[in-house]
This record gives sequence, C-alpha cells and structure tokens, in this order.
Amino acid sequence: MPLNVLFAATPERWATYEPALQRAFKGAGLDVRLALDIPAGEVDYVVYAPNSELQDFTPYTRTKAVLNLWAGVEGIVGNETLTQPLARMVDPGMTRSMTEWVTGHVLRHHLGMDQHILHQDGDWTPVVPPLAEERRVCVLGLGELGTSVAQTLKSLRFDVSGWSRSPKDVPGIETFNGDTGLDDALRSAEILVLLLPDTPATQNTLDARRLALMPQGAFIINPGRGPLIDDDALLDALDSGQIVHATLDVFRVEPLPVEHPFWAHPQVTVTPHIAAETRAKTASEVIAENIRRGEAGEPFLYLVDRTLGY
Ligand code: NAP
Repeated sequence: MPLNVLFAATPERWATYEPALQRAFKGAGLDVRLALDIPAGEVDYVVYAPNSELQDFTPYTRTKAVLNLWAGVEGIVGNETLTQPLARMVDPGMTRSMTEWVTGHVLRHHLGMDQHILHQDGDWTPVVPPLAEERRVCVLGLGELGTSVAQTLKSLRFDVSGWSRSPKDVPGIETFNGDTGLDDALRSAEILVLLLPDTPATQNTLDARRLALMPQGAFIINPGRGPLIDDDALLDALDSGQIVHATLDVFRVEPLPVEHPFWAHPQVTVTPHIAAETRAKTASEVIAENIRRGEAGEPFLYLVDRTLGY
C-alpha cells in the first residue's frame, strides 16, 4: 500500500513541488501517493505551508507528521487542532540563499557602497572602509541560518559575534546568551543581523533601550521576522542617527502597507520577504528523509518545540 501524502500549500506551488517531491520520494525508496486532495482520515503525512486552506487538523487521525515547508512556524505553532509531530523546514538551499542575501547586505554597508554610487556628480570624496576584521557583525540567533551566516562572515574575516537562547560554542565567533548577554552583544554590534524566530520571548527584542546600547551609526539587517523590532523605536533611532540604515525583509504586516513610513524613509531598504525562499529540490529531499525516518521508526528531524514556539 502506498503512503498517502497530502500537499497542503497554496496550489500554485504544486507545479514546482510535485515533480521535486516525486523524485525525492523515489530516491528515498518510498512508495507514495502524493496529491492535493486526499480524504483527511487517509492521510499519512502532510506537506504543509501555514498559509494553506488546511487549518483544522482534527479529522487527520491517521497522520503521523506535519512537515512544514517554511522555517518559521509562528503561524501554526499555536494551532490547538494540530497534535501531530510538527517539523519545521531546514533546507540546505534555503540556508545558502539566506547566507548569500545577508552577506550581500553586510558587504553593502561595510563597504559603503551606497555612498560611492550616489556620488556620481563629480564629487571625488573617497571614503575608505575599514577591513572586515575591523568590523564587528553580530548575529542574533545562532540556529541553522544564523550559524551559517556567522561562519560565512567569519570566513571573510569579519569580527563576528552571535547571541542565542542556549550557550553555544562556534569556533572563531564570540557567543552570548541570556538577557545580559544580549546587552553585551549589542554594545559592540556595528552591523546587526536578526535571525531569530518570532515567539513570545523574541518579540521586540530590539526596542528603544537596546537600540540605544548599539554603537552610534550602526546598521541593522532583519531577515528574521518583523515583530523582532519595535518599528517606532527603530524609526526614532534612524531619525536621531543612532542607526544609520536598516535593511528589512520582513514586517509585522506583509505585504508592507503602502502608508508605512519604512517605504519612504531614506535610510530604510525594504525587500519583499525574499531573503531565503524554500528551494523545492533540496526541501523535497529533507521531506522525503523525514518520511523515511517516520516509516523506519527513527526520530523525525527538526521537530518544533511547542513550548518554546520554534
Ligand atoms: P532555528 O534553527 O530554530 O534557530 C533559531 C535561533 O534563535 C536559535 O539559535 C535559538 O537559540 C535562537 N532563539 C530562539 N529564541 C530565542 C530567545 N528567546 N533568545 C535568544 N535566542 C533565541 O531557526 P532558523 O532556521 O535559523 O531560522 C530563523 C528564522 O529565520 C526563522 O524562524 C524565520 O523567522 C526566519 N526566516 C526568514 C526567511 C526570509 O526569507 N526572510 C527565510 C527563512 C527563515 P537556541 O540555539 O539556543 O535554540
């Protein structure tokens, strides 16, 4: 009997994911019936995006796991009808994508690229950037994405620090944890990258008090989640010069409403939540491996801790 795997994401994803998942299932030696529509009581696994129509998991009595296509689970972790194991997406393709995106924006600010591109009117004012090793970049969140970002920046010789909930040992990187650790990490953060999940404990991580701890003229890059930053406090910090520029990929409301001051602010770069898309090929291999593990009685990878919310 084949396993019944329901694809519960927005239907336009089907054309990309169906062949990638079929290939990955075959590669993992799984006999699978993959479909957009399977009676709830017959579904063995759900491949899931939190913006799908499926929100009530009560009738999915046979389902062994829900395999999220997204890294962020804030849109589903509080769903009380979902009692099955829930895995978040850890996708090597997504990790590479995030690492490239952050590295590009760190280099933009580090090298002062905007400054030189704007001066094309005969103004020959060279501003020589420091070397990477003279620039402290701090990464909030040392999980799958944050650790990859921190290690890549370190490989470019940046002076890298990182902060996480639990203590971490990442070679070459100064690590901090806990509330006082955050304050200490921020004090030297010339470029700050936010790669935390959106949980009750991380909302407004960057508030007015913490923005004031950062070195004057710091840069902020947020590809994590919008609620990590207090928007009004950030706008005040930009206007006062405490923060020189913010590159924001994620927002409290998405798409960012046209009237939001971030759009027009000269020191804000808005990108439309594109830092790291899940990549169908590599993500499908991760999903297939998790189903293989489930069928072999092995523990699932990347299970969400519902009490922590990530
Ligand atoms: P992850 O592996 O779960 O890592 C999360 C990190 O945040 C961990 O280091 C964790 O600490 C830390 N953390 C969580 N709560 C904390 C707290 N209260 N205080 C301090 N540190 C805390 O997640 P990931 O895969 O790296 O993804 C991170 C986030 O990136 C996602 O949740 C999502 O919101 C965002 N994202 C955005 C995009 C985009 O396109 N913009 C794409 C993918 C993901 P511990 O290590 O101690 O657990």
